Amino acid sequence: MEIIERKGYLLAQKEKGRTVFGVFPAQYPKEILWAMNAVPAEIWDPPVEVAGANAHLQSYICSVVRMGMELILQGKCYFLDGFLFPHTCDSIQNMASVIYDYMGAKSPCYFFYHPKAPYSQGAPEYYMAQLRNLADLLEKQLGPMDHRALKEAIEASNHISGLLHQLYEKRATAQIPGGNREFYRVVRQVEYLLPEDLIPALEKYLHKNQGKDPQNKIPVILSGVLPNPPQLLDLLDELGVRIAHDDLLNGSRRLLGPPIDPSTDPFKAMRDQYFQMPPCSTRSSPIEQRSDFLLQLIQKTGAKGVIFNIVKFCEPEWFDVPNLQTELKKHNIPSLVLDTEINQGLSGQMTTRVEAFVEMIS
Ligand code: SF4
Repeated sequence: MEIIERKGYLLAQKEKGRTVFGVFPAQYPKEILWAMNAVPAEIWDPPVEVAGANAHLQSYICSVVRMGMELILQGKCYFLDGFLFPHTCDSIQNMASVIYDYMGAKSPCYFFYHPKAPYSQGAPEYYMAQLRNLADLLEKQLGPMDHRALKEAIEASNHISGLLHQLYEKRATAQIPGGNREFYRVVRQVEYLLPEDLIPALEKYLHKNQGKDPQNKIPVILSGVLPNPPQLLDLLDELGVRIAHDDLLNGSRRLLGPPIDPSTDPFKAMRDQYFQMPPCSTRSSPIEQRSDFLLQLIQKTGAKGVIFNIVKFCEPEWFDVPNLQTELKKHNIPSLVLDTEINQGLSGQMTTRVEAFVEMIS
C-alpha cells in the first residue's frame, strides 16, 4: 500500500500557501487548524539521533519528548509556522516551557489545556472555553476563522473517524489481510494528512482489503503510547500474531465517538465528542474504565492476551499498568509488559520474552 511521505507532503502544502504546525502528542482540536487552512503535523517519533536534547532534559524523560526536542534543536522544523503543545503529561509540559521560556522558540507556540478526569460539572464549559481561546489566539496569526469552514472540518473529521472505526472493526474480525506493520503505516497518516488526502487514502486501503485474512493468526491487543519500535510489529507479524485492536494513545484512544451534528454550534460538537473518547491514562481516567475498555476489546476480538508496550519513563502509563495487569489477571487474561525506547529496536531479551508469551497464548 502506497504511503504519502510525511516531509514531502508538508513541504508541498507550504508551497500551496498553507501554514504547517508542529503538534506534540496527543489530543487537540485539529478541526480548528484545518478550518484555518493550516496543517497539523504531529511529532511522535521522528527518526533523529538524540544528542543536544540531553543537555536540556532530565535523564528520566521519555524518548517521545527527547526526540521531539531534538528535532527542533537540529533545525529540522525550519519550515513550521508554529508549535502546539497539548497538556498531555508533565513531560510535554516541561518540554514546552523549556522550548518557549528558555530556548527562545523562533516560531509562535500555543498551549492547549484539556480537562482531566474525574470531570467536574464545570469541565464541559471549561473545555469549550479552551477551544474558543485556542481559536482566538490562532486567529491573530492566521486571520479570522470562517465558521462554515469549521463545520466542514468537523464533518470531515466525523467521516475520517467513521473510516477508522471501519478499519479497526475489520482488523478485529480478521478481515484485513495485511500485516501489523502495514496497518499502522496506513492509519498513522492521520498524523499529518489533510482530510482531502486522508479520506481517499483510508478508503483505498479499506476497499483494497476485502475478504478474510487467510491465515489463522493469533489475536492480541496492543496497549501503550504508539506502535513503535516497528521491529515489534515485524516480530509479531513473523510469529503469526495479529494486533486485533489497540489501546494506544495515538491509536484507538483518540477515536471519536458517534458523529455529532456541528450545524448548531461547532464548538459544542467538538466539546461533546471530547467527552465521549475512550479512557486514557493521560486524561487520568479511572482504572475501572480503562480495564473495562480493555475487556470489551478482548471480548469483541477474541484476543488471547494483551501486550503493554510502554515507553520507558512514560509516567502516566507506568502508573496504570500494574493495576491493569491485576484486573486482567482476575479474568485470566495473560499479559506481557515491555519497557521500550522509541526507534531503538528490540533487544534479544525482549524478543525472547515476546516469543515466549506468544508460545504461551497459542
Ligand atoms: S510517552 Fe508518556 S510521558 Fe512521554 S510524552 Fe507521551 S504520554 Fe508523555
